[in-house]
Amino acid sequence: MRQLASAIIFILIVSFQSLHAVPNNGNQHDSIPHSALLLSDYIQYPSVTGNEKQAGQYLATMAMLKGMHVEVFTNHTDTFNFAASLYPLSLNKPNIIFLNHIDVVPAENSEQFTYPPFSGTIANGQVWGRGAIDNKGMAVMQLLAMEQFVDLAREQDLPYNVTLLSVSGEETGGHAGAKIVAERFAHKLSPMVVFGEGGTGLPKVLVNDPDKKVFTISTTFKRSLWLKLTLSMNTSGHGSVPPKKYAVQEKVRSLYKIVRWNRKVVFSKTTRNMFRELGRLEGGMRGVVLRNLGLFRPLAVRAMRQDEVIYSLITNTITITGIQTPPGPPNVIPQEIEVILDCRLLPDVDTHEFISEIRKVLDNSDVKIEILEENAVAPPSEIGECYKRMANALQVIYPKSGVIPILMPASNDNNYFRALGIPTYGIMPVFMSMEQIESIHNVDERIPIEALELGTQVYIELLKQYFE
Ligand SMILES: [Zn+2]
Repeated sequence: MRQLASAIIFILIVSFQSLHAVPNNGNQHDSIPHSALLLSDYIQYPSVTGNEKQAGQYLATMAMLKGMHVEVFTNHTDTFNFAASLYPLSLNKPNIIFLNHIDVVPAENSEQFTYPPFSGTIANGQVWGRGAIDNKGMAVMQLLAMEQFVDLAREQDLPYNVTLLSVSGEETGGHAGAKIVAERFAHKLSPMVVFGEGGTGLPKVLVNDPDKKVFTISTTFKRSLWLKLTLSMNTSGHGSVPPKKYAVQEKVRSLYKIVRWNRKVVFSKTTRNMFRELGRLEGGMRGVVLRNLGLFRPLAVRAMRQDEVIYSLITNTITITGIQTPPGPPNVIPQEIEVILDCRLLPDVDTHEFISEIRKVLDNSDVKIEILEENAVAPPSEIGECYKRMANALQVIYPKSGVIPILMPASNDNNYFRALGIPTYGIMPVFMSMEQIESIHNVDERIPIEALELGTQVYIELLKQYFE
């Protein structure tokens, strides 16, 4: 593998050209921080999922040039996964993993972008383009923080390794990236802790103090479970004389029961922690309620039902995402109907128990239920030493900010590592405005250079806590 990496570095150094896109001020390079220039270059490799290799090779080369040890795990156009570490992985040191993904979502409606989505334009104090936030900006912060420790690692025998782990395919479920790495290469990485994407710094989290910066670190997530429900019924085929029972009608009846199903509210250990910490920051009567959910449950639940996001964090949700019958003219009664459900389960919920609850609600034994796909079960990560170090690092760089552990409503690559029992925390250590957050997967994705610099500082501070 290492020879492969050396070959890559050779090819890339030979063919590497500076790509920096800087409008109107091309000769002011010196005043632009290295982080912005690096991100600008990285964005210019349009690594839409399935096409990660070139961008990955670029980042691996940059890591190598900064003195890191690169190991490429898989080396194909659509699955390029590599580790860049302070020490060779063969030393098996307990490893602090900085996880990020190389792939980006496509840039549709590119004509609506202020700057072309893969131009990596640096303008107005920001780096613009697809991946600026999700997730190339984070990789740049991680890499530049690690760079600060390369010499120290050479001079001393540090107790831990640090690895930048860059993977493919996150945006389509991680099968070409994190899943492969976790299943086939985790033993090589000797992971002690993983810091990946997930939460971030948000405004207006606290009702009583909307200006306070609050960072959210995800410690667990809701698992997706995709189900296909099929109902077949042999009935007469003509729509002019409807039979008492036919597949589509029966299906609609049982779906209506699913829609009206008032699902149980569950406060898991993670959500309790989340609301307790939020309550501590919030203060006032709201804070008292959040800190004592056992006592104020009816009041809290009534309020939480009103907010879609909060409600999704305390219930298993079911979304009907597809209804299909075989093609036919409007006057022919289909003999079969298929429905797709996107279910999101709270941590600790068992798939088969959940499916049997659905069966009960459907109240139709003829409906066949098939699992299309589900996330692996993974234990929530503890609010332990590694969590606290990240929380401290955030509060050193952003004084007076708050930090809370959260349950993510959706899963990401972190899940594959949590499933192995490795403590895994999801946090992009920058404070973002709502406008910037909305630019993710959208037009005009961009990140302020200041955020890039501060995020890098957070990772440096984090590593200091391990090494000093
Ligand atoms: Zn992402």
